[in-house]
Parts: sequence; structure tokens; C-alpha cells
Amino acid sequence: MLTPKPPSAEAQLLFLSKLQRLFIESDFTATYKFALLIALADLSVELGTDDGAELVLSTRQIGERFILLYWRQSLPYGTGRPSAVPGVLIQSHGVQAAVISAVTAFRLKHGVGTPALARLLPEYPALLGSVAQTVSAQPLNYLQNFGGATDEFLFTRAGAGKIMLKEGVVYCLRRFQPLVQQLARTHWVEHIKNNRRNLPILGEADDLEDFLFSASRQSLLVMAQGLRKLDGAKCFYCNHSLTDADVDHFVPFSQYPRDLAHNFVLAHPSCNRSKSDTLAAAPHLERWLERLLHHADALTEIGHIAGIMSDVQVSRQISAWGYTSAVTAGGHAWIAPSKYEPINARYNTYFSH
Ligand SMILES: [Zn+2]
Repeated sequence: MLTPKPPSAEAQLLFLSKLQRLFIESDFTATYKFALLIALADLSVELGTDDGAELVLSTRQIGERFILLYWRQSLPYGTGRPSAVPGVLIQSHGVQAAVISAVTAFRLKHGVGTPALARLLPEYPALLGSVAQTVSAQPLNYLQNFGGATDEFLFTRAGAGKIMLKEGVVYCLRRFQPLVQQLARTHWVEHIKNNRRNLPILGEADDLEDFLFSASRQSLLVMAQGLRKLDGAKCFYCNHSLTDADVDHFVPFSQYPRDLAHNFVLAHPSCNRSKSDTLAAAPHLERWLERLLHHADALTEIGHIAGIMSDVQVSRQISAWGYTSAVTAGGHAWIAPSKYEPINARYNTYFSH
């Protein structure tokens, strides 16, 4: 077998233009295809490599991501506005999307509030099995049908319950992760807004994207309390004491929109605003990696109480991906308000072992 190699610039452009066509020419009867693209991109970042190699994924691994994505979305959306009636958003042009119904039924039957708690139940594998089946029968079957033809440019089936992301695809999904995420999320929000049956629920809502994709305010409050106990009442970035605190995504949410306990730090609202969507500079990164090393279990525990998923290896992998991509792209890192530095090759050394 030939050793894999990263796709050429031309192959990457072809990938992007096919992805673009997929969004324009596909038939989106439900929101599943958006969830599938997000799941494939996330799994590529978390499990894949930058050498162009293929990646085999099981439908259960993808199904797990579907449960995470749809868990929050299966809760009633209530804007609190007088014009709107709280309700579960409809995610399909036909009957409600089966994954939403399955997650809702499971949550009600077992009285669990978070996917992290759901995972611990003996009935969870059955839920996962049925979601994996839906994923297999629907989006995996139809994602690569667009423009009246089938173009397997992303994956092929690789035996029962498995797919294989083709050579070069993982590379592209890792490289263009923020773009894929943004496209999928924007279209997902539009799909829900354009479904007339959602109009009474939505009212004049303007926080739909937050509702669909971010951790709840309540979870973040609990997370903040835990972090205060662990790290003390001080800002992770400037180390000064704080009273008002934001829970900041160390690797910015705009770059990797997934809430994981190990990625959260406490920060002054002003430090948080100033850092905004940039990666934190070397001294912060060193402290953050140190913290993963020494407080991994404590952070897992805090996440558990707050109902936020945690996986220390995955968090490390995501930051490695974020920083090494920024080295390639010539990004800048935030040191302090109005102070930045280039993310140069030195940053790779933090992740080279
Ligand atoms: Zn600060």
C-alpha cells in the first residue's frame, strides 16, 4: 500500500467546490445532513491526522455525536417573549425527526438531564443503536446525492456499521473545519426558521443559534462555580482577582464549536472580550496544558456536575489541531488586551510529543 500524502492544492479546491455544491444542490428534508457534516468534521479533528490518510468510523461513533447535537435541541425552545409559544422545534419537513423523538422519549422515561448522565444508564446502548440506525439509513445514504447524481467524494461504506472517510478527506475536514461548521450551522438555523410549523414557537427569536449549539446558561453557571473552587477567584489570563467572571472557551468556540469541560477557564469579562475569537499566546497555553496534566480529573468532575461533556485527550487533541493549523495559516495569538504575537513554528513543539 502506498503511504498517504496530503491532497494537492488543486484537490483541496475541488473538495471545497463539491462541498459548496452539496449545500446548494442537496435536498434537505431534515437537518440530519448538517449534523452529519458537523460530526464528520469533529471526528476528523479528534481522531484524524494531517498526512492525508483515510479514517474508518463506526455508525455508533457518528450516532453518539447525533445524540450530543440533538440532546439540547430536543428541549422545548422558549424565548419568554409574549408572542411565542414554547415547544420543541420541528427538524424535518415531514414528521418530527426520529432522532429528536428518540432522545426526547429517552430523557422523559429515564429522567436524565444530560447526555453525560444518559451514557451511564444500561438502556443507553439501545438508544445509541437506534440513532446509529437512523444515521445509517438516512443521512449516510443521501448526503452524497446532489445535482441529480451520486458523488462519493467524502466516504464509502466499509462493511456493516462502518464508513471510511476517503484519502485526503480527513485532511480537508481538519483544515477547513471552521468553514464546514459555519456552513452547516447557518444552513441548520435557516432550515428551522424556514419550516412554517416552527413560526409560532420562534416568534421574534434572535437567539436560535445559541439555543441550538451552545451550552445552556445554567450549565455555564455551574461550571463557573466549580472553576472558582478549583482555580480560585482569579482570571486565568491576567491572574488578577475577579468578582464578575466569564466562562471562556480556551480554544475559541468560533474555531471549535463544541463545549468540553477541559476547554473552559474563568476570565474577566474584559479579558474575555479582548481575547475574543483568537487563540491564547504561549504563556497561557503552557499554563493550560499544565492544568490538563494536574487537574484533569477535577475538571472532569466539575463538567459532570455541570452536565458538560469532558474528555481530556480530545481537548488536548483539539488544541493541538487549533495551534498547528494556525502555524500553517500564519495566525496570531492573544497575549493581553491589544497585545498579540505571531503563532510561529515554536508552537508546534508543545504538541510534538
Ligand atoms: Zn483578566
